Formats: sequence, structure tokens, C-alpha cells
Amino acid sequence: MKTKPESIQPGAGEQFEYSYKAEITNVFPLTRMEKLYQIQLVDAKERAEFIFQPGQFVMLELPGLGEAPFSISSSPLRRGDLELCIRAVGNMTRFLDRVGRGAMVGISGPFGTHFPVEKMEGEDILLIAGGLGIAPLRSPILTILEQRSRYGRVDIIYGARRPSELLFGYEYAMWRRFDVGLEIIVDHEEPGWQGPVGLITEILRARIGAGSADALRQRTSAIVCGPPVMFRFVCDLLVQAGVPVEKIFVSLERRMHCGRGKCCRCNIGSTYTCLEGPVFDYWSVLNLKEAI
Ligand SMILES: Cc1cc2nc3c(=O)[nH]c(=O)nc-3n(C[C@H](O)[C@H](O)[C@H](O)COP(=O)(O)OP(=O)(O)OC[C@H]3O[C@@H](n4cnc5c(N)ncnc54)[C@H](O)[C@@H]3O)c2cc1C
Repeated sequence: MKTKPESIQPGAGEQFEYSYKAEITNVFPLTRMEKLYQIQLVDAKERAEFIFQPGQFVMLELPGLGEAPFSISSSPLRRGDLELCIRAVGNMTRFLDRVGRGAMVGISGPFGTHFPVEKMEGEDILLIAGGLGIAPLRSPILTILEQRSRYGRVDIIYGARRPSELLFGYEYAMWRRFDVGLEIIVDHEEPGWQGPVGLITEILRARIGAGSADALRQRTSAIVCGPPVMFRFVCDLLVQAGVPVEKIFVSLERRMHCGRGKCCRCNIGSTYTCLEGPVFDYWSVLNLKEAI
């Protein structure tokens, strides 16, 4: 393994092994498959003490059904209130899809490393999300917007398969009001769509080719989250554009299962992605064999 350059590291999260009683206080349908769940810890003292960082995840327990890991989609500055954007794919998430406000759940965590936005102050930030990858990315987005003056140029590139699958569309105008460059692209058109059609990498290539590469310099930090197939292409383009590997942060969350280093399903070699991830810098990813 090569020596790692001096860099900002993914923030190590404090690990808690404690389950909180919580209530689903609101449910908002986002698309056909995803809903946003607002969840509040029941105990006021626990609410005040519950601290997380952008990029961390919690285990959500449905009594009698089990538990599963979900990234926190909301800002850490809102203590004790969590928002989880959940796609209904299997046993637990489909059951959750039928649950309404007032349902009681268990929350453990927060777990994992985080996007070190606190160490990116003064830098330009480029956030890139594909599909459901916007769920974990929304937390650093909101955190950065709430402290907008601390950062340089902020750009978001977000791609989805279809316009109807874009998440958080109702917030884009608000994000743009904070002097954020937001570019959205879809793989396939649908009636009414007037934006670009293609892959995220095309937007990135166009920006680099258009001479805006000077915005992607040493002072740029990038946060990338999306399907595994997207990572390598996006990260390699960022490196070509001059973003240092140790300033590109990715979330490798799909490789996990229990989230607590117990089930041994997520290890890459001797690295447990649930304990040492889900957020890694790209330098570490390149040195983790078979990480992508
Ligand atoms: C750290 C971490 C953070 C996560 N954050 C989020 C999040 O913010 N929002 C979210 O919706 N999901 C997230 N996930 C994925 C989520 O944990 C799974 O979707 C969930 O465990 C599925 O549980 P289930 O019981 O409904 O599905 P299961 O019954 O366990 O699975 C049923 C079927 O669905 C497939 N499946 C499971 N997960 C997925 C998936 N993610 N995509 C496509 N197919 C899948 C399985 O392969 C299986 O075939 C995260 C996972 C990790 C490890």
C-alpha cells in the first residue's frame, strides 16, 4: 500500500450501541418507490443529546420485523429530528411503506464515518449524486447551505434514471437560492422534461472541457454517492480534473448488512465498511482491493 498523502480524513463517528424509542411524525411520498420519513426521538433528553454528522447512518427497527441501515437525510443541526429517505425494496421497507404517522420505531446509532464538511470550510465543494445516492448527500447539502458563507463555490450534480425518479424536486429552488450551481440530468426522457438527457459523467466532462476545470482545483473537495457503477467513472474524471484523491469522499454503503461489524458481510479484506465506512476518501478506496 502506498503512503497516504496528508489530507482531511473522513470523520470518525462516535459509535453508540443504544436503541432509542422514536415516533414517525410525518411521511411524505417523494416518488413511486421512495418516501421521506420524519422521525422524532420520544424522550426529550435523548432528543437533545442525539448528535450525528452528515453521511452517518442509523439502524431503524420495526418491532417484530427486524432492522435495517438507513442514511440520515436531514441536517445534523436539527437535534433529535431525523429524516430518512427510504426506497421500498424488500420485506421491511415495503411494510414501512404502508406505515403512517404515529407509528413507533426503534433507532440505533448514529453509526459510521461521515463526510468531513467541517474540515472543508473555505474550499469549493462539488457534490455528485446518482439515484438514491441523493439520500445521504442531502445531509451534507443542507449542512453546507445552513453555513453557506463558510464555503467557496458549491455545485451539485444529480442524475436519475427518469424525471419521475428525481428525489427532493420541491427543494431545488431553495438550494439554488443559496448560490448553489445545480445541474440535473436523466438517463431517459419523459413527457414534459426539458433538461439534459444522458449520464452524470457527461455533465462532468462538459464542465472540465469547457474550461471550468479551474474550479476543480486543489481547493475543491468532492462528495460522491450513487450506484457502484458510477463511482469509478466519476472519481476518475475528478482526478483527471485535478481534484486530489484524498479530497474525494465516497459512501460505500451498499456493501453493509448489520452495520455493527458483527455479520462479516461488508468486509473488503480486513476492512469492515460498516465500522471504517461508509464514507471513505478515494485514496483509501483505490487501496481497498475490490472496493468498487
Ligand atoms: C449504510 C447504509 C445506508 C443505507 N441508506 C439507505 C437509505 O438512505 N435509503 C434506502 O432506501 N436504503 C438505504 N440502504 C439500503 C437499505 O438498508 C436496504 O434497502 C434495506 O435493508 C432493505 O431491507 P428490506 O428488508 O426491505 O429488504 P430485504 O427483504 O432484505 O431485501 C429484499 C430484496 O431487495 C433487494 N435489496 C435490498 N436492498 C436493496 C437496495 N438498496 N436496492 C435495491 N435492492 C435492494 C435485496 O437484494 C433483495 O433481493 C442503506 C444501506 C446501508 C448499508
